[in-house]
Order: sequence, then C-alpha cells, then structure tokens
Amino acid sequence: MIIAVASGKGGVGKTTVAVNLALANNGIIYDCDVEEPNANVFIKAKLEKIDDVYLMNPEFNLETCKFCKKCAEFCKYNAIAVLPSDILFFKELCSGCGGCKIVCPYDAIEEGKRKIGEIYYGKNEIEIYQGLLNIGEARATPVITKLKKYVKKDGISILDAPPGNACPAIETMHHSDFVILVTEPTPFGLHDLKIAVEIVKKLNIPHGVIINKYGLGDKSVEEFCKEEGIEILMKIPYSKEIAELYSKGIALAKEKEWEKKFVELYEAIK
Ligand code: SF4
Ligand code: SF4
Repeated sequence: MIIAVASGKGGVGKTTVAVNLALANNGIIYDCDVEEPNANVFIKAKLEKIDDVYLMNPEFNLETCKFCKKCAEFCKYNAIAVLPSDILFFKELCSGCGGCKIVCPYDAIEEGKRKIGEIYYGKNEIEIYQGLLNIGEARATPVITKLKKYVKKDGISILDAPPGNACPAIETMHHSDFVILVTEPTPFGLHDLKIAVEIVKKLNIPHGVIINKYGLGDKSVEEFCKEEGIEILMKIPYSKEIAELYSKGIALAKEKEWEKKFVELYEAIK
C-alpha cells in the first residue's frame, strides 16, 4: 500500500506523521521533500547514493542556427533568448521538456543532459529512500519522479511529500492509494488544507486528515472536515514534550502509547 503524507502548509508535522507511521508499521519511507529532506534525522540510517537524476538540456549549434527565434517563442519557461548572432540559455529555467529541439526547423539543437539531483538509500530500523535536489536547481519534480521509481507496491510505502500544493507535492501524491493531509487548527492551516483537499479530490485519491498541535487555535478545521465528510484520523496534541522529542530527533513511535496509535492509524487507513 502506498500512502502519501502531505500538507498544504509547511511546518505542521508532516514528516513527524510520515516517519512514525513507517516506524510503527515496519514500512519503507520515501523522503520526497527533495529540497530539504529531513526524515533521516529520525531514522538515522547511513545513506548511500544509488542514482543520479538528469534533465534534458538543449545544446545549441551556432554553426547551423539561423537565429529564427522559433525555439524561444516555443519555450514557455523563457529559458531561451535569441540575439542577432548568439543564443542565451538560462538552464535554471529549463524544464527539460525537449520542445525547442522538436520545433527547431534547422536541426540546430542537440539533446544534452544536466545532473540536477541524486537518490539515496539507507537502512536502520526501517529502510529509507531519499531524493536530493542540487543546490541552485529549481525543478524538484523530476527528482521526485525518479525517487518514486523505487517505491515498492507490496508492503507499506510511506511517501513524505514536500510542503505546499504545487507540482512537487502533486507528483508525490499521484498514484498513491491514500493521502494523509496533515494540518494545524489555525486559519493558515485551514486555508491551505482547503486547497490540498481540492487537489486530492481531483486526483480521486481517498484521503483523511490529521490535526497536529491540537488544542492550539480554533475548531474551524474540524468544522470544515465535518462539512466535507472528511475523516479526522488522528489528533496530535500541542505539547511541550512532543516538541522536545522532535527537537532531539526522537520519533514519537519510540514510546509504546504512540506506537500503538500509529499502528491503529494504518489499520484504519487499510
Ligand atoms: S529554432 Fe533553431 S535555428 Fe531557430 S533560433 Fe532556435 S536553435 Fe536557432
Ligand atoms: S527543453 Fe523545454 S523548457 Fe528547456 S529550453 Fe527547451 S523548450 Fe524551454
């Protein structure tokens, strides 16, 4: 079973839920928050690189180029600027779609490749796969796509999504069997949860909500879930003890009471 743990808003405890769900149920965790992966802070595995991630990178042949600008007109990411006798290419803006090569009428573009990230693997108490986007690169989605090639469909695979509701989060959730949306009971939490719910509905994936820092804020998240018929799977209290464990890199599931709750959470999702 593949379970994605996502959150519209950052800092609401998404990684806490993903790591503890994996630990309590002997699952495999896939850290898809490739811009700043931190699940291994809790797993403490020795990570080794197992793969590189490349993006198609156009290479312009100025000998055959006629500076017709068709490539620049096609590129919706504005990664190409055609001057009277030169071409400027802004690699950080390029998505690697390959469209410029296809539309060039003079066959003046070659298909190169550029490394944008790496995939890591490690094992301690449980297995962990982690994607890492190179510093300075803007496109996290291809790293997540590559990382997801390692996702095992049998057993329990937990995908820790990047925060937010943009392409990297959607790529993580896509093709999951279930999405846990983690939120906090605040107006910001509710605002971003509503957007995340719209996305999982469009993706047609069964989903439920976990409220972290419960006791803080108001009841508006609970009211929203009731109106929408979304099950609240767990409430994690706003507590100094939990915050202290987190700050020390200690997983909640190390405590029997919480381990049981995360086992029950998986059973409920099943
Ligand atoms: S489309 Fe081809 S020929 Fe035209 S400017 Fe671009 S690279 Fe040059
Ligand atoms: S590969 Fe796509 S995104 Fe990159 S420069 Fe060409 S058209 Fe633009």
